[in-house]
Amino acid sequence: MVDYIGISDIRRIVREQGIESLIAQIATQIEADYRRWGAFEKDARIASHSPVGVIELMPISDGRHYTFKYVNGHPGNTAAGLLTVTAFGVLADVETGYPLLLSELTIVTALRTAAMSVLAARWMARPDARVLALIGNGAQSEFQAIAFAHQLGLREVRLYDVDPAASHKLERNLLRSRATQHLKIVRATSVADAVRGADIVTTITADKRNAVILSPEMIEPGMHLNAVGGDCPGKTELHADILLRPDARVVVELEAQSRVEGEVQQMAPDFPVTEFEQIVRGAAPGRHHAGEVSIFDSVGFALEDYSALRVLHQLVQEDPRRARQIDLVPDLDDPKDLYGAAVDVPGLSIRHDTPFAVARTAGGAVQ
Ligand code: NAD
Repeated sequence: MVDYIGISDIRRIVREQGIESLIAQIATQIEADYRRWGAFEKDARIASHSPVGVIELMPISDGRHYTFKYVNGHPGNTAAGLLTVTAFGVLADVETGYPLLLSELTIVTALRTAAMSVLAARWMARPDARVLALIGNGAQSEFQAIAFAHQLGLREVRLYDVDPAASHKLERNLLRSRATQHLKIVRATSVADAVRGADIVTTITADKRNAVILSPEMIEPGMHLNAVGGDCPGKTELHADILLRPDARVVVELEAQSRVEGEVQQMAPDFPVTEFEQIVRGAAPGRHHAGEVSIFDSVGFALEDYSALRVLHQLVQEDPRRARQIDLVPDLDDPKDLYGAAVDVPGLSIRHDTPFAVARTAGGAVQ
């Protein structure tokens, strides 16, 4: 039997743990896993593009556990009442190759993206950063605001979206959330209005084109830019001149993937970037000086999903009631008799503790 976390299960886990605590647990695990970067077999994700979106597979292994995520990105979906991003994934045991956990990852992706964003900001933003501008107020946005409010001691968050209904929804949800009660919430009238004087700017918009959400004149020395929405070839959010500022520094997750998918796809192949693992392992500073414009060019890397799945797996090991069990893999008395599991015949060898349960009599007849 394989543990299964569906939407109702993750809702229960979020309620039980508290959303800000669960994001913090995932951030801690992500940081620990980036510290052992060399232990992972890492590949850029495999993307299948269509004119309206992308479907991606994100595998990774540390030799003990193997995980993958299936994820899509379809910015036009919301017009049809569908999510832009949906996902699910598996954590498997490398020793046997057996899946141990199958989980929904749509909600978990929002949790882990917020965890990664706030982790990067903890290392890269100025320690006195208190004002966040949040551009793009869709599905991911509450998770971002809550993570930053909880872990960075924000004082103010400014919201902007081309769709006022999205900002209204975000404002309503933040006003209801315990984690953001102390925040001053400001509805900005434009991107420039939101960004002016902000310490951290998160762009998390969805549009399948080279958009210019942030233009050079909006950027002030010392800002930390958390560029999350540009995560595909031909899908970016920052004007290229921002990256070219002499006081700017770009940090990526896996360089080979980000050069294709991140803001740095706009740059020459030798444009300097720092991988985040170098920062957490102490090989590079998080920030060189207070005036530096730090840019976390986030696209989402498989390691972050691995970390999130490890947190979920740990929670299920501590209390198995947090997951359901599904018969994803046959459990056989005779592993060579797969036929017996597939076909209803006398002498069927599948074990009686599975939902395929068939009890055998002493004489071998099936009851
Ligand atoms: P969503 O469709 O729910 O929300 C996107 C919002 O952006 C919408 O409200 C839309 O109106 C707004 N928007 C579009 N163009 C804008 C503009 N020019 N100015 C201001 N707002 C604008 O999508 P989501 O699930 O919140 O995801 C947001 C983006 O983040 C997507 O592009 C997705 O691919 C990306 N994403 C990245 C990661 C990562 O790890 N880097 C993880 C998850 C999602």
